[in-house]
Amino acid sequence: MSNHIKHIFFDLDRTLWDFEKSAEQAFEKIFEKHKLGDFGVPSGTAFHDTYTIHNERLWDQYRKGEIKKEVLRGLRFNLTLKDFGIVNNDLGEAIGDDYVKISPLLVNLFPYAIEILEYLKENYTLHIITNGFAEVQAVKLRESKMKKYFDQIITSEEAGVKKPDPNIFTFAFDKSGAKPEESIMIGDDYEVDIVGAQNMNMEQIFFDPYNLQPHASCSYRITNLEEIKGIL
Ligand SMILES: [Mg+2]
Repeated sequence: MSNHIKHIFFDLDRTLWDFEKSAEQAFEKIFEKHKLGDFGVPSGTAFHDTYTIHNERLWDQYRKGEIKKEVLRGLRFNLTLKDFGIVNNDLGEAIGDDYVKISPLLVNLFPYAIEILEYLKENYTLHIITNGFAEVQAVKLRESKMKKYFDQIITSEEAGVKKPDPNIFTFAFDKSGAKPEESIMIGDDYEVDIVGAQNMNMEQIFFDPYNLQPHASCSYRITNLEEIKGIL
């Protein structure tokens, strides 16, 4: 038990919320609803795989402030459709709207997510710091019944900058009344969550569920959320 820790800041997507699983399910629904098979798209999975390539590149630009969220939402689908030979901006926009509506309703959490929040709430104040869209994250927290565990939900939209920018952490400290030396960050993205927290002199727990970065430099590294019980 680290006695000096009072505040725990969780990332949401891919840390508590199993983003990939929800996305896969959302793509199956979108494939059916928009009859993408009729346009020559082989499957929801194929559509998802192509989308992922465009989304990662565009999300990176969004994170750096190079494109707006309204552009990101539709463009990632329009580019995906184009790869399948479909040029239809209205369809891309409609799918973009559906995706952000459908995916947060498809609740998939990592194993032990609720159990660990139950355990931690007894001794710590819990918060979220997320780069995700504010209104989407609110739906996820409500639908997954995780909202009640968190004192402050800090979104990049509210802070005006995204992790790993130090200003989002400073904003989080101001809003929560936490001090860096009594705070720990738990997240899955090494550059965004872990290096971001290191730059603020916060401790960090790197959640690496697929064991992809075993030698990452961090305070603690876990592959299963239950391991947090051995740290906090
Ligand atoms: Mg994440």
